[in-house]
Amino acid sequence: MSGELEIHAGKERKFLCTNCGTLNISGYDFCANCGCPLNSYAQIDPIKRIRTYGFMFRSVVKAPNKPIILVGGWLILALPVIRCYLLIVTKSYRNFSELFFALLTCIFCFNALFILTRNYFVQRRHK
Ligand SMILES: [Zn+2]
Repeated sequence: MSGELEIHAGKERKFLCTNCGTLNISGYDFCANCGCPLNSYAQIDPIKRIRTYGFMFRSVVKAPNKPIILVGGWLILALPVIRCYLLIVTKSYRNFSELFFALLTCIFCFNALFILTRNYFVQRRHK
């Protein structure tokens, strides 16, 4: 994430975007070129935080695909799927709500795994 990097170019205060290197006019919380947050206010303000998270998620999706990211994603996201499978197979759930939340987590993780894996192979094909 961007740090607060202030540059005094002449009389005007400008903020350097650490993501793309664009000099931004003082008073803006996001880079005019790439949308990267320029100061901590963009991460504290509840409305601007949504835009900051959007930038983070876009950065992750656009990031160059490396096999280690795919492997790491599978290691983290496969655990809830395996847990849910074991809960159902061994019938070891204590009540319905435990099974329900395990299934919900399983669906989200399975969906994230699908998107992660699909993006990895689609990006590889376009190289
Ligand atoms: Zn930028």
